[in-house]
Amino acid sequence: MKVAENLKLINQQIKNACSMVNRAPEEVKLVAVTKYVSIERACEALEAGITDLGENRDEGLIAKWEVLADKPIWHFIGTLQTRKVKNIIDKVEYIHSLDRLSLAEEINKRADRKVKCLVQVNAAGEESKHGLAPEEVIEFIKNLRPFGNIIIAGLMTMAPLTDDQKLLRACFRKLADLRNQIRELQLDFAPCTELSMGMSNDFDIAIEEGATIIRIGTALVGEEGLEGKT
Ligand SMILES: *Cc1c(COP(=O)(O)O)cnc(C)c1O
Repeated sequence: MKVAENLKLINQQIKNACSMVNRAPEEVKLVAVTKYVSIERACEALEAGITDLGENRDEGLIAKWEVLADKPIWHFIGTLQTRKVKNIIDKVEYIHSLDRLSLAEEINKRADRKVKCLVQVNAAGEESKHGLAPEEVIEFIKNLRPFGNIIIAGLMTMAPLTDDQKLLRACFRKLADLRNQIRELQLDFAPCTELSMGMSNDFDIAIEEGATIIRIGTALVGEEGLEGKT
């Protein structure tokens, strides 16, 4: 499928999900996750009207950045090793995976501007998932005050891989509640307006629960990588 065709379908699903809960589709930013596909496919996405690309590894981001530079807005969405921060810091607009103080320190040190970070939360409490436990998040964010180059733009989570709609909804709702609690603190370094949640198989529920950023790979650009083409 052409990216443009997938995009048309996804835009319709975004509209439908928004209309369920009286939200405007413009409130939802679509990030195309290009980690499984070629630079050519990423280009096709940009030509189809995509503005934001997400990568989860520094090598993948750098390889595409070398060709596309600042044509797209870049989102780093994967686990970030502290020593890799310097490789991506001047290329990305958003880091979705802030999950520890040592990473915040490194981002703060390497950045020459304010970087929009999202705190990754393990909302479902899965053993295998990265991110802070929900009850750790507020204290963690309060401790970021000294880091002048970090803006806490919002929270991010990856829901469990399941078709259990109730479980997915509970997970997204937990993240939204937490985001609201943080906003109420009115910390100048943590406006915390964004909710990055929702992937190919659950973005409609995420939107109904308030997602402002959805990260879609498979349903939008596919997974060429799994066919041996990278
Ligand atoms: C791969 C990935 C996505 C996209 O997943 P799809 O199911 O292919 O849409 C979103 N977020 C993160 C953090 C990812 O690693």
